[in-house]
Amino acid sequence: MVNIKKERMTAQKSFVFNYLMGVKTHPTAETVYKEVKKKLPNISQGTVYRILNNFKDKGKIQAIDTKDIVHFDADVSDHAHFICEKCGKVYDVYDECAHCGVLKNRRTKVGKINHYKINFYGECRNCKR
Ligand SMILES: [Zn+2]
Ligand SMILES: [Zn+2]
Repeated sequence: MVNIKKERMTAQKSFVFNYLMGVKTHPTAETVYKEVKKKLPNISQGTVYRILNNFKDKGKIQAIDTKDIVHFDADVSDHAHFICEKCGKVYDVYDECAHCGVLKNRRTKVGKINHYKINFYGECRNCKR
């Protein structure tokens, strides 16, 4: 009995992870739930949220906190995000941050930098139109 439960959990987990790996849209937990539910109709919202938090705690995915909502990203490499203040969309920023890596391993007065998270805020191209 326990094993069956565990098995199903693992399948759901890998499904959620694969979904996140396949998108570049930085979906919210709600979007992840809606998309995953299309393929796994029996999955509950609570399960999806738990899976996401679990991955986050383990460092397998990262959470991007915007004003009032959390977005998830399976790309945990150091890259910056552009958050549109109008539509709330989250975009990856690689080029403009090509030199942000110099921050890594730099020693500051309070300690050495292992990772960094940079959020840029502005109005995206779609909203400017
Ligand atoms: Zn926008
Ligand atoms: Zn990203």
